[in-house]
Amino acid sequence: MPLDCRRSTIVLDSAAMFAGVELSYGLFYTTEGVLREVLDSSSRMRLEFAQASGKLVVLSPPGEHVASVKSKARELGLLKELSSTDIEVLALAEYVKKKCGTAILYTDDKLVQDVALSLGIQVRGIKYVEKSRPSRYSYRCKSCGYTGTAPGRCPRCGSTLELEVLPR
Ligand SMILES: [Zn+2]
Repeated sequence: MPLDCRRSTIVLDSAAMFAGVELSYGLFYTTEGVLREVLDSSSRMRLEFAQASGKLVVLSPPGEHVASVKSKARELGLLKELSSTDIEVLALAEYVKKKCGTAILYTDDKLVQDVALSLGIQVRGIKYVEKSRPSRYSYRCKSCGYTGTAPGRCPRCGSTLELEVLPR
């Protein structure tokens, strides 16, 4: 079953599956990687039933979207923090946004929310209230204490800068 923009633009990540988003209402999209992460049998049965009844559609994001999500995550200095499933589900959300003009990603993962917001994808928290804007990040040098706004090497001493999420 393909993407049906008129019925839904909602993409679910693993947390949404575990939290038991009510799958009997409407239509949701997700990826193979997310399904693989849902290992417990009660969730799995629920998901298989949802798939069989056409409420949950498993799609594989095109490679160009995987590439653009990776590039955005790298730009934000978050690429190393994301799993391949995170990238896949973000790429699917970006694909839905491109095809439908809008996309909503259900996730409680703050870093995934950040990348999604940076890509213009709406986010909804499941157990927690979602962020309305990305966190502020800084990159700190553990050796000399330098802080900057981009990942890479410390301009003072050459050490690798480490990601630090700032409180808002
Ligand atoms: Zn330094």
